[in-house]
Amino acid sequence: MDDRTFRNAMGKFATGVTVVTTDFQGEVKGMTANAFMSVSLDPKLVVVSIGHKARMHDIVKQTGKFAINILTRDQEELSRLFAGQLKEERPVSFEWVDGHPILPDAMANILCNVHSTHVAGDHTLYFGEVTEILLKDEPGDPLLFFEGKYRSIGR
Ligand code: FAD
Ligand code: NAD
Repeated sequence: MDDRTFRNAMGKFATGVTVVTTDFQGEVKGMTANAFMSVSLDPKLVVVSIGHKARMHDIVKQTGKFAINILTRDQEELSRLFAGQLKEERPVSFEWVDGHPILPDAMANILCNVHSTHVAGDHTLYFGEVTEILLKDEPGDPLLFFEGKYRSIGR
């Protein structure tokens, strides 16, 4: 099977979009990820799958912690930025909570310590034990990703 067939099939699974953030030696590092899932209530675990070619892979291995920022539909540009799809770099404002840099306008921020990892092919699954959650009262609509394109509910 070729890669395109696999990606086309996976693209049929509509997801939200997150930016994984972490503090690496005083510098904030972010990466767009949609391979994110809730895993366990007791303990509270989530998982994000990070490709071995991504710089974020080595960085989270070293920092041992990360935050998942769930994007709103107004944050498509941030998704493109943190996927390396914008021509120019641009400054991003982060807030800090418990030593985590977070995107303040996200729908939710999920702060985690790395609980365990599992190498799976060309990605590593980073399981995160959730230490804190920040939820917006009126977050608006989520940014969605379907068939390789950004969408939003009702559009
Ligand atoms: P880099 O190439 O180092 O960084 C990515 C971009 O973020 C760069 O442009 C950089 O300038 C910018 N950036 C980083 N930190 C900052 C900062 N502090 N301020 C401003 N800009 C900053 N890959 C996966 O492994 N798993 C997934 O689940 C996944 N899902 C994706 C979902 C979508 C919708 C998209 C579009 C891409 C997804 N990717 C995923 C691909 C991944 O986002 C890219 O391959 C990414 O570029 C890899 O990042 P990197 O760690 O190598 O970061
Ligand atoms: P696409 O058609 O490549 O993506 C459709 C779906 O395929 C994604 O939602 C994901 O489930 C899967 N997928 C894509 N690349 C993958 C990879 N390297 N490993 C595992 N699953 C993958 O969409 P696109 O708009 O061309 O994506 C933009 C870029 O972001 C591409 O370079 C793509 O590889 C990357 N991306 C990576 C992942 C990932 O690593 N899990 C997920 C989404 C997008």
